[in-house]
Amino acid sequence: MTRSFSTDIVIIGGGIAGLWLLNRLRQQGFDAIVLEKSALGSGQTIASQGIIHGGLKYALSGVLSPASSAIAAMPEHWRRCLRGEGDVDLRGCRVLAPHYFMWSGGGYRSRLKTFLGSKSLRGRIDTLSAAKYPPFFQHSDISGALYQLSDFVLDTPSLIELLSSPHRDRIFKIEADSLRASVTDSGKIKSIELQSRSGAVSIHAQRYVLCAGEGNGALLEMLGIASPCMQTRPLHMVVVRTNHPQPVYVHCIGDDFGMTPRLTITSHPDGSREGGWIWYVGGELAESGVGRSSEEQQAEGRKQLSESFPWVDFSSAQWSSFQINRAEPRLPNLQRPDTAYVNSQQNLLITWPTKLALTPNLSDTVCKELAHQQITPQSSGSGEPATVLTECFDFPGIARPRWDAIFNADAAQPHTDSQS
Ligand SMILES: Cc1cc2nc3c(=O)[nH]c(=O)nc-3n(C[C@H](O)[C@H](O)[C@H](O)COP(=O)(O)OP(=O)(O)OC[C@H]3O[C@@H](n4cnc5c(N)ncnc54)[C@H](O)[C@@H]3O)c2cc1C
Repeated sequence: MTRSFSTDIVIIGGGIAGLWLLNRLRQQGFDAIVLEKSALGSGQTIASQGIIHGGLKYALSGVLSPASSAIAAMPEHWRRCLRGEGDVDLRGCRVLAPHYFMWSGGGYRSRLKTFLGSKSLRGRIDTLSAAKYPPFFQHSDISGALYQLSDFVLDTPSLIELLSSPHRDRIFKIEADSLRASVTDSGKIKSIELQSRSGAVSIHAQRYVLCAGEGNGALLEMLGIASPCMQTRPLHMVVVRTNHPQPVYVHCIGDDFGMTPRLTITSHPDGSREGGWIWYVGGELAESGVGRSSEEQQAEGRKQLSESFPWVDFSSAQWSSFQINRAEPRLPNLQRPDTAYVNSQQNLLITWPTKLALTPNLSDTVCKELAHQQITPQSSGSGEPATVLTECFDFPGIARPRWDAIFNADAAQPHTDSQS
């Protein structure tokens, strides 16, 4: 016998996009649920560097592009949430670094200097005097200029924990690839069909929202939707377990003044060493390293980091690397999306935040679209336990960071990240 459940909104995918949206919708009185096939945040979110940025790095070509103006408001939006004054309450979320930095090294060009000092960037970037350098950069070997950005860095596992814990009764782990949709001839979704430990389950909703990151590709194919189309951008990230006592959060800008910083570095707590740090390195190194083997990429990472920070002793550091995709809509002329992406078709919304930082923008757009479509809370189940679903499915748990799985492979904590 198929069991039935009705709700207002079904969200497919429990990364930052799905969980932020769940919080917004439930505040508005909607009954909403999240269906997740793996662990929460296990796609890009927990693997991200956690930088809440204002798009400055996209402005490195020397002009403020539309991308940088659309995202410029995001750091302050998130800061309001962290103070408990925003659209989602993030009080208690761990902030790894209250500021992010940009370091131009010794041989930077005057065009960059002029740009970084320009009027259009006022309030978004400060040139620091050496006395104000963070501890990592207080070293006699240092040359070039250090800039403090309005950006900051969040601990993504803590973010996912905070967004999911109040809604554990509305977030369900489904069997990977068991999800099917019953669709009318005109392309409207009638119901979502799932297999569970207690048999078949059919879920009906006013609207269905795809927030499955890279998984949106397979879901669109299953639904027979050709447009929008997804594209992935592969990255080859480097991870370093260092003994250096200070964390580092910085974009290192190369001499070529390109669109992408040479190195984008964040530091994350090492789960097995009190006070230890894992450095996580992206930027141009990760983009250009996609064709390199893991050994080659680690060697390149070691070379670049040693050259950049001669005062750091890497002799006992442990190195690793892994490949991961960013997922986003494919836009004409291979443009990079400059806001969160939301596309509405019948009773379906297809979304990609394109950046962690743009997640509030995604939820705002979805909420506005629902209001525009005159969708209001209707389900009588709102606020009641979703008994049918809790009997059939478990809470998915939160994904473990990749570096934790790499360096602490024997740790007792279960690892459910399917991609590592
Ligand atoms: C290495 C890296 C570093 C990054 N760093 C930053 C950064 O510093 N700052 C920034 O702003 N952005 C950054 N990004 C981008 C950012 O991480 C993503 O834009 C954002 O996390 C996407 O969130 P999401 O919820 O859409 O997708 P995801 O986090 O990928 O979540 C999708 C979820 O859907 C689930 N799912 C997939 N298919 C299905 C299905 N069929 N049924 C049910 N569930 C399904 C997955 O298991 C996953 O949990 C980075 C990305 C990468 C890869």
